Amino acid sequence: MRLVMLGAPGSGKGTQAERLSKKYNIPQISTGDIFRALKRGEQLPGMTLSKETIDEISSIMNSGNLVSDDITIKVIENRIAMSDCQNGFILDGFPRNIPQGEALDRLLEKHNIKLDAVLELDVPDEAIVERLSGRRYCKACGKTYNLESNMPTEEDRANCPEHCENLILRDDDKPEVVKQRLATYHDVTEHLKPYYKNQDKLITVIGRKNLENTIKDVDEALAKL
Ligand code: ADP
Repeated sequence: MRLVMLGAPGSGKGTQAERLSKKYNIPQISTGDIFRALKRGEQLPGMTLSKETIDEISSIMNSGNLVSDDITIKVIENRIAMSDCQNGFILDGFPRNIPQGEALDRLLEKHNIKLDAVLELDVPDEAIVERLSGRRYCKACGKTYNLESNMPTEEDRANCPEHCENLILRDDDKPEVVKQRLATYHDVTEHLKPYYKNQDKLITVIGRKNLENTIKDVDEALAKL
């Protein structure tokens, strides 16, 4: 299964991507998670980025804008070439604009593989602003939670060096940055919807308040593939 998750920040695409990654036993590749790992001082296997580049990524993220295509595409190119992607992958947060979509198409062609689908989670902006105010992040292990709907489980705590004891609001989940991220989504990322509709790959699921209902709709949509 090769899947792209599309959806506004806070639409729940990361939650679905993580679940589907376990279900299909294929990696979840989240560019946001990769960039946050770089910010925490981790380096990517097979790729070293300079301190200046990492500082640049960090300040762009904190403004709610997109990291440069050049860096983002290199990161994805490097990640998709790894052996754990041979049986498939779930792209979560990439592509985020048309040039990234085109770069992905070239990359897939080079590896002689195709996407099965692009799954869009459609959630109204009002619901997103509410959800993101409850979103919390563990700096020690990099996992994202929600005070309302998704607190760390025993397993999450056991897997974290600090047991997810200190959950914080992500710099880019502050209300003023959320506004900019939503604007970036509508102005830039949403152009990928017609792009993938033309390729006959787009599946839209309405992201619902109740997580179980969203899970059911996503699974039903994927079962039709
Ligand atoms: P969300 O989907 O909730 O906005 P992410 O964790 O996916 O959060 O991304 C956080 C930030 O990382 C984005 O606002 C952006 O600055 C940067 N980022 C993530 N993916 C990309 C990408 N494909 N291209 C450019 N920037 C990206």
